[in-house]
Amino acid sequence: MGHVDLHLHTTASDGVMSPSEIVKYAKAKGLQAISITDHDTIGGLEEGLAEGRRIGFEVIPGIEISAEHSPGSMHLLGYFMDIHHPRLKERLAHLQQARAERNPKMVEKLNHLGVDLTYEEVVRASGGGQVGRPHFAQVLVEKKYARNFQDAFERYLKKGAPAYVDKFRYSPREAIHFVNEAGGVVVLGHPNTLGLSGSNELDNLILSLLKEGLKGIEAFYPEHSSYEIVYYKALAERYGLVVTGGTDYHGIEKESLDIGVGRGDMKLPYSIVEALKAVRDQSFQSH
Ligand SMILES: [Zn+2]
Ligand SMILES: [Zn+2]
Repeated sequence: MGHVDLHLHTTASDGVMSPSEIVKYAKAKGLQAISITDHDTIGGLEEGLAEGRRIGFEVIPGIEISAEHSPGSMHLLGYFMDIHHPRLKERLAHLQQARAERNPKMVEKLNHLGVDLTYEEVVRASGGGQVGRPHFAQVLVEKKYARNFQDAFERYLKKGAPAYVDKFRYSPREAIHFVNEAGGVVVLGHPNTLGLSGSNELDNLILSLLKEGLKGIEAFYPEHSSYEIVYYKALAERYGLVVTGGTDYHGIEKESLDIGVGRGDMKLPYSIVEALKAVRDQSFQSH
């Protein structure tokens, strides 16, 4: 049995490869299954799933939703949703619209700060995919307003910086519910970005998400320390959650990170997919 990667981005959000390219790439790398989990959109799934069928490779429909949370960020992964579900499509269209309204506001703020930058330049930097802050950063670096990506975020784009504009997010509850309604299984993505300190905080958060229908926790993730992995696995065990993982590959990382293997040591077994399918089938029966 080959390995799997359940956290990947394509040009439908901020990744570099098109959905069909990433499916072909995963097969060439010897993986057995992947999930495409673009930010707040299922726009790449039709193409990715079709390519999977064409070349005989398992592609699991996925998504990564940014939910309302502080102090850090909460990313909820959804798997196996019906991508034609009307309510799911409507909820996600709303997020896309909010995103589209946010970007021109950020251009305006930058212009007020004396930065000579147009929305067209940012769109061009996105290469036709979803436009986001990384593309703003790219233009800021190109036009020498920042030394590098990090500098651009520090100076202008990060939360609290002068050009930052908050974006609309669904509450975790709403996000879990509309993914569930579309037949999807929800997993708490990379818990180390939640910004929680005490271990009780994460326990409490998981308990509240469990009530809403959370089914898994992404323990295997390139930015998790070995201590964190052990800790998240223990939490999964305690609360009966499926342990999942993925590389969060965008295709723009330094050569050190690749699909399927992360920084070289990630080997996720196909049994993760089987566990998710079992949860999906159970939830389906109970409805
Ligand atoms: Zn994420
Ligand atoms: Zn991601």
